[in-house]
Amino acid sequence: MTTTAKALSLKSNLLYQVAKYAWEGTLYQKNQEITDLLHEEYKDHYTRKQVANQIRIAMGLPPHDSEQITGENDEEALMGLSYEPVWVTDSSICQKCDKEHRDCIAACDAHAISADSEGHIIIDKEKCLGDGHCVQACNFGALAENSQFVPLIKLLKETKDPIYASIAPAFAGQFGENVTAGKLRSALKKIGFTEVVETALYADLLTMKEALEFDEHVKDEHDFLITSCCCPVWIKLIENKYPELVEKISPSVSPMIASGRIIKKFEPNAKVVFIGPCIAKKQEIMLPELKGAIDFVLTFKELNAIFEAAGVNPVEEADHENAQASWGGRVYGRTGGVSGAVAATVERLVPKKVQKLRSLKVDGVLEIQKLLEQLKTSGLKNANFIEGMACKGGCVGGPGRLITPEAGTNQVNQYGDASVAKTPVENPEVYTILARFGHSHTDTVPPLTGESPISQLLGRHLGPNK
Ligand code: SF4
Repeated sequence: MTTTAKALSLKSNLLYQVAKYAWEGTLYQKNQEITDLLHEEYKDHYTRKQVANQIRIAMGLPPHDSEQITGENDEEALMGLSYEPVWVTDSSICQKCDKEHRDCIAACDAHAISADSEGHIIIDKEKCLGDGHCVQACNFGALAENSQFVPLIKLLKETKDPIYASIAPAFAGQFGENVTAGKLRSALKKIGFTEVVETALYADLLTMKEALEFDEHVKDEHDFLITSCCCPVWIKLIENKYPELVEKISPSVSPMIASGRIIKKFEPNAKVVFIGPCIAKKQEIMLPELKGAIDFVLTFKELNAIFEAAGVNPVEEADHENAQASWGGRVYGRTGGVSGAVAATVERLVPKKVQKLRSLKVDGVLEIQKLLEQLKTSGLKNANFIEGMACKGGCVGGPGRLITPEAGTNQVNQYGDASVAKTPVENPEVYTILARFGHSHTDTVPPLTGESPISQLLGRHLGPNK
């Protein structure tokens, strides 16, 4: 087996083993056993310390200079969750590749990775956008994303509080073509979730909010609105490098944060776990102004490891259909989804404005940087609603995905087309939420801007005054 294949095999095997022992409740007692087991299998390519550090990261712990997995206070450290999106697993794993071309450095369009005088890679935390593409690019496993699934498994097994799963719109097809939202719901309940919601339903609310904000903020040909749905890398890049554009960002939270805030508003003791393809979301939930809405972020890859460890196969589960979102919310998972949904909703809510909406969608870190540079220097003549996604293809291209971005896009489109509601305006589930905030279905304009309680709950203050 090549070193690349070994690295990939170690990574998925390691996730599975850590999930299995965590599920059995023996992870801390038996972590030396897992290290022995994995080291025996991969010893031609990895030292024991290198394996141990990869296990530590999968457990949510930072790497350290030892073959031991746990120190005295590690369990506590783990429950605190780290803000670091990406770790250098063990600098000795790095093969220092070709001096002229390193896959990890080339994959980082934010220029956050460099090599020190001895050739070891270093991550500039200020520049790091947390999108995690470097992790995928390294063929040797020298980089790994932050992981939160061990404390989540503990929670699933021990807490008496309700635990909600909020599943990202990109879920379609990730666990198999025949795994519907209903089957995934049954599988998630089997591993301990109390309730399962589609993040796409909360995307519906934000689509309405952004359609109304477009009407409010875009008055003449020089105005434009930048969507805040739903990519944290897009927002971080603007805040860090283009602060003059911050005032043009829609003052709304992402659908993920909206789902957590709304669920907890009515069930304050609930825990909410976001499940998607995104690594950057692990950092988004830690931001001071957003903290508390979501308790853990799990990637599809990590969830798959938990399903395997628990012996649950979503393909075989009962299909408890419970349609929640419109076409607009369901297609958020791919590039152009947000702008398409907002355009269709402007047509329904403020038809006089629809001729004026000209949307532009861009994906990939390099491309969004070019667009922002242009917005800053010369502005845009042909667009006044701007959508940026850090991953190629949108979230279906996120590093925690299980299928190709192309297959993910097809599945998301099929799932979107299957919805009976085209926009949130026709989605009864949206009005069920609005009714909980005391608003009637007959309100002509949903109360999603201004001072209303739901507008405040879905609001976010960006920039220096946040
Ligand atoms: Fe995360 Fe989606 Fe942005 Fe990729 S495009 S970084 S998956 S939110």
